[in-house]
Amino acid sequence: MEEKIKHAQELVEYAITNYPRVAVACSFGKDSMVTVHLAKEVVPDIEVFAVMTIYKPHETYKYLKLLNAEWNLNTTVYLVAEHIPEELRDDELKIILLPPDEFIQKSLMIKAETGREIYEVDPDECCHLLKVEPTKAAVRSLDAWICGLRNTEGRTRADYREIEDKGGLIKINPILTFTEAEIWRYIATRGIKSHPWYALGYRSLGCQPCSQIGGILERDGRWQNTSKCGGECGIHTQLLK
Ligand code: SF4
Repeated sequence: MEEKIKHAQELVEYAITNYPRVAVACSFGKDSMVTVHLAKEVVPDIEVFAVMTIYKPHETYKYLKLLNAEWNLNTTVYLVAEHIPEELRDDELKIILLPPDEFIQKSLMIKAETGREIYEVDPDECCHLLKVEPTKAAVRSLDAWICGLRNTEGRTRADYREIEDKGGLIKINPILTFTEAEIWRYIATRGIKSHPWYALGYRSLGCQPCSQIGGILERDGRWQNTSKCGGECGIHTQLLK
């Protein structure tokens, strides 16, 4: 475990040393918090950004604000929305609102045609508009980003590498080989507060409608009963630049 932590911090050092413009992506799930925590031990004022959606649980907004303040993260939040949701409002956050027009138009069209929500009928498109496009905006001015991906999280994550080059954008995955148990051990030994949904039994947190308790692998609870079950939102599979 200590070897893995040391190696993870070496990867953060590698990112900082080799890429002038680098930031940590933080979803405020357990893996992100470990990544941010160990990155801050290397670079205390490392840049942090979060892509939020209007469908994130309110508990995620509250947890984000709490940890942003307690850890002095200066998080930049990217959000496709007309307004900042009441629960996310915080003078300590820099929130960049991105135009929701296309999302609203497609959601209304799907609702009119099917009577159902976009995330039920076309979660790929919903994720594309609410997660992938804002992530593109977040990484536009970066050379590299640091993520909390782990190989054992789900069926789609087994083959990721610690350092990836996707279209010239470098992604560093410092905790790639950490197991779920090691993540919880790190959190416990560092006294890190965790998102309240973990105490309810969730093992992987996303948007409220697309996160469930249950499954064998951590990400099996994501997008249950859709073609995307246990899969990816797209930010780690698509070109962002
Ligand atoms: S996780 Fe669900 S609600 Fe969130 S962007 Fe993707 S499909 Fe939409």
